[in-house]
Amino acid sequence: MINEKVLRIGTDDNNIYYLDDENGYWRKALTLFDGYNDANKIANNIGIKNAEIHFFIDGINKLKDKGFLLVLDKKFTNEKWFERYRSNIFYFNSDKINGIDFQNKLNKISVLIIGVGGGGFTILSHLVSLGVENITVIDFDKVDLSNISRQVLWGEKEVSRDKIDVAEDYFLNKNSKGRIRKLKCNIESVSDIQKYVNDVDWVFSCADDPPYKMQRIVNKACYIANKPVLFSFCQKNNGRYFFMDPAKSGCVDCLFVGTVDEKWYNFILALKNSNFVPQTSATSYTISLLCSIIIQKWIILLQDGKFNNWITRLDFDTLSFTKVTEWYKQKNCPTCGDNNITDNNLLSFFKLMGNIENNDN
Ligand SMILES: [Zn+2]
Repeated sequence: MINEKVLRIGTDDNNIYYLDDENGYWRKALTLFDGYNDANKIANNIGIKNAEIHFFIDGINKLKDKGFLLVLDKKFTNEKWFERYRSNIFYFNSDKINGIDFQNKLNKISVLIIGVGGGGFTILSHLVSLGVENITVIDFDKVDLSNISRQVLWGEKEVSRDKIDVAEDYFLNKNSKGRIRKLKCNIESVSDIQKYVNDVDWVFSCADDPPYKMQRIVNKACYIANKPVLFSFCQKNNGRYFFMDPAKSGCVDCLFVGTVDEKWYNFILALKNSNFVPQTSATSYTISLLCSIIIQKWIILLQDGKFNNWITRLDFDTLSFTKVTEWYKQKNCPTCGDNNITDNNLLSFFKLMGNIENNDN
């Protein structure tokens, strides 16, 4: 309240609305907007005469248009659901998004998370908090002592347990009525994951071993199933991510077709021949930072449907974002194109990656 006759709505300095409240109606009304009272009941309660109710309804619509008020088409009945998700709903609600509809959408989305280590487990924790109730996790690994420093949610009790079991316990503790499926699998081919990709709305690819080959496998399965997918990587002082929708953006193999040259091929070849195993240098907070940004970008994507054709790089030292490699669909892509590859470096690169179709390799 600014004074007896003017109300200030909103706490965010960027989004404030002043409402004339000559006779104090709005001050009383705002305490009654709780999802259970309808507009007529509220008008009656605060003493608005029938002849003036249209002014009141006009005011409600103005608040609704500015995203300050959620107007429901029927009385609110699911109290527990609202209690659980109300801060999400208030956060999502705006002049463009109906918070309740968006929360319902999140509740219905099914997600596959490939790799529930530091990154994948953090993604899982955010998704279940957001209300995603149907999650499948794939991983072959166990929690080891070094994971504790990289994962806020794991402690000594988790060491030596299968990551998928820890994921299941965490999920069910957060949402006992949700559905989690788990698969212990060392992914070596498209056929290892295809049916799980087919079954969900979204894929989060958080496994990167073997490098490039794993991304190619997930990419192909998502292309076949026409499912949108996130790829993410965490390095020493930066994290990278990109979202790919097979129907809208170039795929991972398009990226290789567009960028692999002699220099890159020689680098990958030398890396493979050296048997070099890079040391993980991620920390719990850099992983959390990257995953929070990924989730926020995912939420925006669900709202606007705009996929970028580039990798975003988050620099942990400067906290700045850079658009790194940008690419588009390639006609001769081996996954989404005609596979008419003639460039020797590319032919050698794909040969070096090995067969991704089945387990024969
Ligand atoms: Zn492609």
